[in-house]
Amino acid sequence: MSDKPFFAMPYPGIFRVTCTVPFPGLKIVHVYITEGPNGGLVVIDSSLGYEDSWARIEQGVRWLDRELTDIETIYLTHAHPDHFGLCRELQEASGAPVVCHPIAREHMLEMAGGPERMRTSFDRYVEHGWAPDDDMMQMPGGRSTMSSMSMGVPERMETIEEGARVTFGGGDWDVYWTPGHEHGHIVFLRPSDDVILVGDTLLGRITPHIGWYGEPEDPLGHFMDSLARLEQLAPAFVLPGHGRSFEDGAARARSIRNHHRDRLRRCVESLGRRGPSNALSVTHDVFDRDLMVFEERMAMSEVLSHLEYLRLRGRLVREMHDGTWLYAMPESVIP
Ligand SMILES: [Zn+2]
Repeated sequence: MSDKPFFAMPYPGIFRVTCTVPFPGLKIVHVYITEGPNGGLVVIDSSLGYEDSWARIEQGVRWLDRELTDIETIYLTHAHPDHFGLCRELQEASGAPVVCHPIAREHMLEMAGGPERMRTSFDRYVEHGWAPDDDMMQMPGGRSTMSSMSMGVPERMETIEEGARVTFGGGDWDVYWTPGHEHGHIVFLRPSDDVILVGDTLLGRITPHIGWYGEPEDPLGHFMDSLARLEQLAPAFVLPGHGRSFEDGAARARSIRNHHRDRLRRCVESLGRRGPSNALSVTHDVFDRDLMVFEERMAMSEVLSHLEYLRLRGRLVREMHDGTWLYAMPESVIP
């Protein structure tokens, strides 16, 4: 953490507070703060609420010579806990509306049902090879991590969809819907200088996690379309949810698409070698290293999004065998 400053100004007028998250491969999440249209502040995403995140956001607002009560609007790029965690607390401190895509709002309401509600979505992984007694809710840092995550849904939520134009940071931003990483994901693009607040749709160093949870049935297909869209929009400067900001969003969108094409190929190669197999076996081929339970679950949901992408396009078939789905090349005979 020491090499990552809490506060930064990665783009003129866009202030950034960096908070800690307890996930392997991620480590940090950004909260962006900028001037609102009515003289107050606009916040984009609200971190997980882990460790001293609240104090950092508060200090960041003070660094700007402001108070939490100055916050006018809280926008959320998507409904993952590391992005909406503290939005209820920020709303309680400021009275500002929380604004997100209607699908993201639905997901937040679902998650507010707590870990038990989330468990049901992981239960279907048992049909893909996961041992039923493995604790799928196990998180790095132990069980307490999950219960310490703030999952509070704010009292007042407003929704926004593609085509909307919002004002902050001294300019107008167009809202685009970029499903894939999360089905209710939106990004904000300022056409006057082609800068984009992209959430987790584009990340600089790692590729965003594209997990399969049964609904929607083709998250990778949606994500590939979102990447094509961003390639076309060609943002000049990208402010992501995690990691460094970077230039040339089109090039990054292209390289992430190529990464998934490569992973699709590796899934097919694994099935070609193994014959009909469940998703967990393919996961161990594609991610050829030791994985912690949490990572293994993430890896398997990522492989499932690829296997389902191929199946929905007729390039793979699957059949239930002894309670487990086996994927195979179309010509293979499933036992
Ligand atoms: Zn994230």
